[in-house]
Amino acid sequence: MPVFTHIDFDHHEQVVFGHDQASGLKAIIAVHDTTLGPALGGCRMWNYASDEEALRDVLRLSRGMTYKSALARLPLGGGKAVIIGDPRTGKSEALFQAMGDFVDSLGGRYITAADSGTGVAEMQIMAERTRHVAGAGQREAFGGGTRDGDPSPATAYGVFVGIRSAVRHRLGRNDLNGLKVAIQGVGQVGFGLAKHLKDAGAELWVTDIHEANQRRAVEQLGARAVGQQEIFGLDVDVFAPCALGAIINPQTLEALRAPIIAGAANNQLASPELAEQLRRRDCLYAPDYAINAGGIIDVCYERTGGSAEQLKAHIEGIEATLDEIFQRAKAEGATTSAIADQMARERLGR
Ligand code: NAD
Repeated sequence: MPVFTHIDFDHHEQVVFGHDQASGLKAIIAVHDTTLGPALGGCRMWNYASDEEALRDVLRLSRGMTYKSALARLPLGGGKAVIIGDPRTGKSEALFQAMGDFVDSLGGRYITAADSGTGVAEMQIMAERTRHVAGAGQREAFGGGTRDGDPSPATAYGVFVGIRSAVRHRLGRNDLNGLKVAIQGVGQVGFGLAKHLKDAGAELWVTDIHEANQRRAVEQLGARAVGQQEIFGLDVDVFAPCALGAIINPQTLEALRAPIIAGAANNQLASPELAEQLRRRDCLYAPDYAINAGGIIDVCYERTGGSAEQLKAHIEGIEATLDEIFQRAKAEGATTSAIADQMARERLGR
């Protein structure tokens, strides 16, 4: 299995393979770049078909974290961990203790957090063995109350301020009153976003495969429920993907009519060249990793401290970052994705 010649190898500082025979742990940690600070990124547990597939995931995702933190002006680098195993059947206390030891062996160059297949419970087990874990304990939630390290309220607020920027640039409006927004997925982030939009006077259309989540948005926020396919073709101002990745693809692009795409989902574009197609159609795309950075900002403040006001102001910085992305993309005739990557590299001095 090639590493240094792997297509996704991008001058990663460290790629470490960890194994513990007693617990059955098989894991990889990739530290992509620590120029701006320790490499923070989630620990994913997934039933990978091969070691090769796990390596590919960890190389790509760790690089993505470097760009995300740099663009969000955080004192963090980019890293990621993957555990090869089935999250439904393969979890044990011993496995996550061994994973905690593995994280600790990097001496703080990598800080782990929850991701697909892991959650607060696993972070708490790892925290018995290493202090380089984010999101393991109770703390004050963004916007009030306490919770177990859930960053979704911060993510939702970041997406909301990002939509303000997109609306100003594409529609020339400063006011969200009467704005028509279609939200795909009203889970933790999507519902939080819907609340902010409703408070700002927007009209909402929602879809969710989880019937109870859809009903909550209808009953509590007066949103209109639509079908899973119908959401794409609505005559709205903003399409906000808050469910899954790769949702912008040749099929959905055919149907999409909204002049703005701005939502929380990770990896929204099924392939990079779709960014150019969106640009040609004058559809303003808010790069996913720029607009959904509220969560990582929240996690960073959990580690470094800082007041609630400072955290809120930092999340609101997403609006200014998007303003710059949109202005530069327009001036240079480039895609918003290309400009976001360029700005992240500038902040890294790469
Ligand atoms: P979530 O699981 O709470 O919500 C996702 C919702 O989407 C669920 O209600 C689910 O039923 C629904 N859904 C799934 N497939 C769907 C489909 N085909 N059509 C309609 N609805 C569908 O997850 P979340 O934490 O709200 O995250 C949403 C997205 O934002 C994910 O892509 C996640 O990776 C991304 N994200 C989340 C955070 C965060 O802080 N939680 C941070 C950055 C990015």
